[in-house]
Amino acid sequence: MSNPFDDAQSRIREAGARAGLDADTVAQLCVPFREIHMNIPVVRDTGVLEFVRAYRVQHNRWRGPYKGGIRFHPDVNLDEVRALAAWMTIKTAVANLPLGGGKGGAVIDPKTWTEAELERLTRGYVRACEEVIGPSKDVPAPDVNTGPREMDWIVDEYATLTGDTSGAVVTGKSLACGGSEGRGTATARGGLIVLLALRERLGLPARARVAIQGFGNAGRTFARLASEAGFRVVGVSDSRHAVCCADGLDVAALERHKDISGSVGGFIDSACQTNDDLFALDCDVLVPAALENALHEGNAAGVRAKVILELANGPVTPEADRLFEQEGIVVIPDVLANAGGVTVSAFEWEQNKTGEHWTGDQVDVRLADVMEKAAQEVWSVHEELKVSLRTAAYVVALRRLQTAFDARR
Ligand code: GLU
Repeated sequence: MSNPFDDAQSRIREAGARAGLDADTVAQLCVPFREIHMNIPVVRDTGVLEFVRAYRVQHNRWRGPYKGGIRFHPDVNLDEVRALAAWMTIKTAVANLPLGGGKGGAVIDPKTWTEAELERLTRGYVRACEEVIGPSKDVPAPDVNTGPREMDWIVDEYATLTGDTSGAVVTGKSLACGGSEGRGTATARGGLIVLLALRERLGLPARARVAIQGFGNAGRTFARLASEAGFRVVGVSDSRHAVCCADGLDVAALERHKDISGSVGGFIDSACQTNDDLFALDCDVLVPAALENALHEGNAAGVRAKVILELANGPVTPEADRLFEQEGIVVIPDVLANAGGVTVSAFEWEQNKTGEHWTGDQVDVRLADVMEKAAQEVWSVHEELKVSLRTAAYVVALRRLQTAFDARR
């Protein structure tokens, strides 16, 4: 399986050459500035003390404080967190936000942890890295298996430790704890805005058929918003099952089924049953919305979509990427497609610092503005340099990072 940090580095080097970046800038972006390794003591409900391995990687802060989520997953490892942190640096620069890039993770399977145990772990995480996070230092957020509940614990623990009650130390909080309107749906909404902005240029038909891998926050929200926007959601999957229907699925009913049964499986009689069936579905847009390396050498050849919208981080390996390019399948890269989440995080951070509260409509208008601009810029570079949208997005970001670096040396 490909190592995501090696992939992130080669993509930075390749795009750095295209963007005419100087060698020092590229070299600095290929190593994280700081890496924190933690062994977090957590007393389980049984009374047994366990040490949880956890990380915070602070990749780059030339354009602003480190920014990026914290994930809880059994497969978390340092190279994955490094890659995710580097992608955040690129993503915040593509969206032109005044933020850098970072990421965190804890190696646990949260499905086997109680809420009280998760709270002790989350608070322990804050205690273990309290000195290096903060509103103007490093601002965490939700990622895989974390959400407003964990972010609210972070605000509270950080306030207890430092006296800072602004809430700006973390984004993705609940509204009651200083969260922003629209943050929960922002990743999916941002992806949809990008898809709509590029729709004609991509030659997508009216009522284009969409298949979505992953039915967590991003995937299910995307399914809902896309079907409301007139797309036909012809297939979805979660970690265990897949369902498809050529005429389009009833997304609201599917969401209810998932909430009750815990899976999309069994919703209707379905010809596709697994993630790989879903990837091979006859559709116009394929949306990987789960974890990295989902589309790889072993399954990429089966893809029949014209467009891949990367709502997850790093779902397409470099080998699969090359194959899609040869086949003329357009990949809208993660650093553009899923930047809506961190964009509304930036809005939340700004509201916390100024004491403002923006309405849902204000957030949506500003999100559309940021995402449409980013999509246009990436498309222009794609045409100017005749490179893939991924390389174009990296070039847009790297040019901004070079400017920020030059201004300070
Ligand atoms: N975890 C999300 C991402 O990968 C959001 C990060 C944030 O809001 O800081 O983009």
